[in-house]
Amino acid sequence: MPQLAPAAFDKTLAERGHTPLRALRIDTLQVNVGKLCNQTCTHCHVDAGPARTEIMTRETVDVVLDAVRRNPEICTVDITGGAPEMNPHFEYLVEQCRAMGRHVMDRCNLTVFFVRDKQHLPKFLADHQVEVIASLPCYLEENVDQQRGKGVYGRSIEALRLLNALGYGREGTGLALNLVYNPLGPKLPPPQADLEADYRDELAKRFGIRFNRLYTITNMPISRFLDDLHRSGQYEAYMETLITSFNPASVDGLMCRSLVNVNWDGRLSDCDFNQMLDLPVEGAAPQTIHEFDLARLARRRVVTGMHCYGCTAGAGSSCGGTIS
Ligand code: SF4
Ligand code: SF4
Repeated sequence: MPQLAPAAFDKTLAERGHTPLRALRIDTLQVNVGKLCNQTCTHCHVDAGPARTEIMTRETVDVVLDAVRRNPEICTVDITGGAPEMNPHFEYLVEQCRAMGRHVMDRCNLTVFFVRDKQHLPKFLADHQVEVIASLPCYLEENVDQQRGKGVYGRSIEALRLLNALGYGREGTGLALNLVYNPLGPKLPPPQADLEADYRDELAKRFGIRFNRLYTITNMPISRFLDDLHRSGQYEAYMETLITSFNPASVDGLMCRSLVNVNWDGRLSDCDFNQMLDLPVEGAAPQTIHEFDLARLARRRVVTGMHCYGCTAGAGSSCGGTIS
């Protein structure tokens, strides 16, 4: 078993000829608008759920928008949660970012379209040309319901149909619908291109559903998934899989090198995983969205930990799927 000291990831980087991780630029602001969600999935890395009360206020949303406005280098605003649409200021955030001409991504769990007062969401997203990144951890009902809750599969399929009917996933509409797969248990995802082809065939054959890309994402050893690993006695074996699968070719494309993450309360982190672990950006960099300074953040040293092996294992893993 490789050593599991907290500095092990930096040591691995050095051994493979990489300097300590630094940001290269910031072209994306990832905005986590809160932990409120209509689901409670077993792998959730933010411990989201219906009882969570931590959500971004309108005042903080306005500070986020001001940072976006002042920095044209931020081409993409990547909105995540929880279920981001459950935040009452979600639509305002989208409208304002689109009015500034920025690309907007919504990390959507699909079932939120069936929450009371949210049925208008598919049309809202289409009207604002929002890229939808939707979780669908399998094309088989049993597997999805096991990970995400009973009935989630059926509602997800229905939601994908609604999006398709609005033009999502169809060439020439500009409405991108990308799906996200993560493994059911403590193992690495299969090759992305192969799985994408399987999803495309199965979803078309069974339901006539179209989508653009499938992103495969590695389960990060943090939060609810980490608890599961400990409970089932699989933590050490999973970490060993991640560590021994370290892929140096993934390092340049790590998402922390091109984005910064803002938490619901305005604090800045290198990525959503660091944020969940309460790891702020390095001390020398601005700590909150109120002090946002793109030039300083764009060359910050990235704060790393054991969980970072989740991003560099196998083909690499980011919010946009495999890296290398
Ligand atoms: S994984 Fe997504 S949908 Fe599931 S509980 Fe977490 S935030 Fe909600
Ligand atoms: S978890 Fe991944 S994205 Fe976050 S700091 Fe570590 S390597 Fe970067």
